[in-house]
Amino acid sequence: MSKRLPITAVTAALVSLIAAAVGAAPATIAPLHGGAVTTTKAHAFETLITPQGVRVFLYTDELAPAMVEKAIGTAKLALPDGRTLEVPLKAHQPAAGEPTSYFCPMHAEVVRDAPGKCELCGGMVLFVQDHLFGAADLGDVDPAGVSALIRVSGLRGVEKEATFTPAFPTPDGKAAAVRAGEE
Ligand SMILES: [Zn+2]
Repeated sequence: MSKRLPITAVTAALVSLIAAAVGAAPATIAPLHGGAVTTTKAHAFETLITPQGVRVFLYTDELAPAMVEKAIGTAKLALPDGRTLEVPLKAHQPAAGEPTSYFCPMHAEVVRDAPGKCELCGGMVLFVQDHLFGAADLGDVDPAGVSALIRVSGLRGVEKEATFTPAFPTPDGKAAAVRAGEE
């Protein structure tokens, strides 16, 4: 029976290792563009309120940048000044000066903020991450005061549609209270 002890110990160590690994897995990604990150069942999204409108970046269930492909969406916004807006979201190629990322679709760890090549792929040119965009005049709007309900459909994988309420960070770093989900 004494031989069971090490096995049990190893098993216990493995279980705690696995638990630690699971516990250490990020619940969300760090925002690449300073937006509000929301994870859903099989995707993650980063939502930005910019002076030109609403931008929603897509990420895979492995939290790697993803292209919009066939996805479309809508953003319902309640602004601090009492205005409400419903903005259609469509695929948008970033223009110069707009936030984007450059990534390798084969290597989730290869994400850059400038054009380049993936050394791991032997020099494949990195993809330019597009995003869903809806034009709206939000120049004077403080994102921390915005309540948003975002719906995205046409997604890849098991989760074809996602509805979420991004929690925009306030200047002091705390997530704003978002009540748009209580529609
Ligand atoms: Zn690569």
